[in-house]
Amino acid sequence: MSTPDGNAAPVNTTSKMDKLVALCRRRGFIFQSSEIYGGINGFWDYGPLGVELKRNLKEAWWRDIVRCAPNGPDGKPVDMVGLDCTIIMNRKVWEASGHASGFNDPMVDDRESKQRFRADQLFGLYVGPHTGDAVADRAALLAAIAAGTAPVITVIASTSGEAAEVLERQGKKFLKERNVPLQISEIAADFVLLKERGEPRTGLLAPVGADLLRLRPMEVPSPFTQKLAVLTEPRQFNLMFQTHTGAIQDESSMTYLRPETAQGIFANFRNVTDTSRVKIPFGIAQIGKAFRNEVTPRNFTFRSREFEQMEIEFFIHPSQAAEWYAFWRDSRFKWWQSIGLTSANLQLREHDRDELAHYAREGAGTSDIEYRFPFTAPGFGELEGVAHRTDFDLRQHAQFSGIGDKLKYFDQQRNERYFPHVIEPSAGADRGTLAVLCEAYHDDPARPSGVVMKFHPRMAPIKAAVFPLVDKDGMPEIAENIFNDLRKTWNVEMDVKQNIGKRYARMDEAGTPFCFTVDTQTLTDQTLTVRHRDTLAQERIAASQIRNFLAKKIDL
Ligand code: ATP
Repeated sequence: MSTPDGNAAPVNTTSKMDKLVALCRRRGFIFQSSEIYGGINGFWDYGPLGVELKRNLKEAWWRDIVRCAPNGPDGKPVDMVGLDCTIIMNRKVWEASGHASGFNDPMVDDRESKQRFRADQLFGLYVGPHTGDAVADRAALLAAIAAGTAPVITVIASTSGEAAEVLERQGKKFLKERNVPLQISEIAADFVLLKERGEPRTGLLAPVGADLLRLRPMEVPSPFTQKLAVLTEPRQFNLMFQTHTGAIQDESSMTYLRPETAQGIFANFRNVTDTSRVKIPFGIAQIGKAFRNEVTPRNFTFRSREFEQMEIEFFIHPSQAAEWYAFWRDSRFKWWQSIGLTSANLQLREHDRDELAHYAREGAGTSDIEYRFPFTAPGFGELEGVAHRTDFDLRQHAQFSGIGDKLKYFDQQRNERYFPHVIEPSAGADRGTLAVLCEAYHDDPARPSGVVMKFHPRMAPIKAAVFPLVDKDGMPEIAENIFNDLRKTWNVEMDVKQNIGKRYARMDEAGTPFCFTVDTQTLTDQTLTVRHRDTLAQERIAASQIRNFLAKKIDL
């Protein structure tokens, strides 16, 4: 697979994920939270390299969105200001936003094993006869699924790609443990070739769906045992973490940890318009923690219970929705490419109307910027959602706070008072970091490290390393001077220990794009070798030019 610019898409597979998770642990990118106590499900810590990587991502976003906002459709920089709100807010905020009553995932319990899972994560392997004609088989199966007559074997997964992986990897064991008399002979995306006592059968992997569970729960087997009639109907489960403020823990002191940063922006809409000179169209941007008590946290940091969001609420006149929606959708997609997600593993997906959130159905649209993570392949997982939220949130806050029409915006140019519409590009900093890690990971048996992290220089946790070739002849002193100068601007490392090959290997694993080596020639002509991580090319560069060289390569 290759992109228009010819970049090969890194092949994302589960084994790659296992290797990446091991590298993250070994080199200090990401650790399990509270590891010495056995960890805590859904929480992750960023180690010395990981914290630099994640900060680089957030700082690039802040610079490109707030300080140096992109040019809008009219070619002029868009108006954007920043905000930093509290995690705990008056709980009425969550009543107004709909989260207190509606931020629910339908959950299903297995009565026997007591395991709980999300209804939308139940995938079925529907089984039908085999005629040798894939098209006819598929049509017959779809009809049988609709009629409820196709036997089904259930798997828990986020996408049909992940379901296929579960079956591919654990297929034999999975079916044997559950007493299913089938053998899997081939899996192609969602289409499966099976055998039952030598007889060929076909199978289709598809979501079971909350509707089917609600209508005919008795016919849906447990994903844990394949036993029938043990699943409950889907029930709502609120994802917000509750907490209390003050000394007395009762109903009146109860509030929540925010499940998104967006509502803090809406709650401050008037403060911002009253105190800054922004005029519609303008945006408010925020980076901050969000908390969701996800039922099945999984896939490393992809679905965590504590994570960071990078959100923009862009306020517009209702008539401008289509134009600004298209602008942000395309601009955000390009941004992810600009920080290194250049392969075909990145895609933009426009939602079908029936997928849209309640507030967005009437709007200009919703799209997801998605990445093909190793654990979603061949499917994709959401990195960022871009949605036209209409004026839903401001209207809700106007009503619930009692402020009413005072929350409307007065547009001097139009001489009109109205609730602005909102285009919201909402991204995850942790999912972004994970996508950057996945994209960077490259096996390379020719290198001593066996692996190289090809981070975009802007993202790389260590921008450059300075090595004295040997620990004598004045070389360490020269290296130290250069190191001390560079570290004022960038995160750089100096390494004197071990042979040069091992030092390069460490930097390849950390994804350091440039290594500068002070050698014997430096002593006579003040030049150093610079080694390029991706091409392994080496060239000589004057010591006095290193700072310019890095500035050009990094601060693109
Ligand atoms: P999903 O469908 O995967 O649960 P969502 O559509 O609920 O995600 P949003 O509410 O749109 O997500 O949140 C915006 C962004 O926040 C997502 O695109 C994602 O990058 C990030 N995000 C949401 N939930 C999580 C989570 N549990 N862990 C890590 N990041 C998350």
